Amino acid sequence: MDERHGSARRGAVKGDRTNLAERDPLSSLPEELAARMVGWGEPSWRGRQWFEWLWRHGVDDYDAITVWPKSLRQAMAARAPFQRGRVFAAQMARDGTVKWLLEWPDGERVETVYLPHPWGDAVCISTQVGCNMGCRFCASGLVRRVRNLTAGEMLEQVRVAWEWAARHGRRLGRIDLMGIGEPLDNWAEVERWLELVHRPEGFGFSYRHITLSTAGVVPAIDRLAERGWPLTLAISLHAPDDALRTRLMPLNRAYPLAELLPAAARFAHRTGRRVTFEYALLAGVNDAPEQAVALAQRLRGIPCHVNLIPWNPVPEHPFRPTPPERVRAFQERVQAYGISCTIRKEMGQAIEAACGQLRRRAKEAQPSP
Ligand code: SF4
Repeated sequence: MDERHGSARRGAVKGDRTNLAERDPLSSLPEELAARMVGWGEPSWRGRQWFEWLWRHGVDDYDAITVWPKSLRQAMAARAPFQRGRVFAAQMARDGTVKWLLEWPDGERVETVYLPHPWGDAVCISTQVGCNMGCRFCASGLVRRVRNLTAGEMLEQVRVAWEWAARHGRRLGRIDLMGIGEPLDNWAEVERWLELVHRPEGFGFSYRHITLSTAGVVPAIDRLAERGWPLTLAISLHAPDDALRTRLMPLNRAYPLAELLPAAARFAHRTGRRVTFEYALLAGVNDAPEQAVALAQRLRGIPCHVNLIPWNPVPEHPFRPTPPERVRAFQERVQAYGISCTIRKEMGQAIEAACGQLRRRAKEAQPSP
């Protein structure tokens, strides 16, 4: 087995959770902040205020927390310093899609994409710097994982989008974990982020408005199912059989369809939420009529929805998009088996919305003003 996929299999659930949450206020739950306040001789409700001002008010330093006495603000700067990410570069497309390249204090960068929709705006966030899954069609897969993002760094991406929406009279309604990285290869921090983002003292996001996209890390899918959060699980499938899927997504060697699809069914039954299967159509690779039939037959019995994705070309990869009429024919074949199947509307092509593209191109870019 390829070493990186072996390590994904072994490390996926335990993850490499650090003690950052204890040190970094941006990765801390309100009750953890309250406990720290108590330890410093302050009332515990100061912890809730701390969380609120970090996230609802988005303060950059303690001096801006005007409900605190000056002595506390000064003491906190020494007790628990924090540093937010910064927008290193930004692009906006005519369709309203905005892409930010965020830089963390250690100099690492990730992409965050804002997607305006008539039915509610969404932000697509990254979960790792780079990705070890090596999917053959993915721009992010060209950059190996440098490190995991912390829960606070993931929440920072939500804050940037939230504040942009507020400044432009819009409302952020959905979060997709579909940017750079495999969320379930960073399970511990993603699990913590899912708790943080839901807290009413902060953004208060309903789990129903969150989609977690995975290449299929089976043990972590089961861990997620155990939590019972009714979020949408989107599994990148892209092939109806193991031979092709392994060719496109090497992780399939570790977690073949015989393990992945039952895990998807368990998630659906545990949470009451149907699973979304993502299927990027690649001309001449996975878009044949018989592959549509094979896909539908494999998914029968799983409460699910198939999302067909017209391929967004990446210069470094050889794949070509499937013509629109062939996309529709594929959809009709899947639907004929009683499986819900839609075609995703592509947005942001003008600004290279495929993950990983801005990051690589920005290596020589100037910081945004
Ligand atoms: S598709 Fe997702 S899991 Fe696969 S290489 Fe790209 S970022 Fe990683």
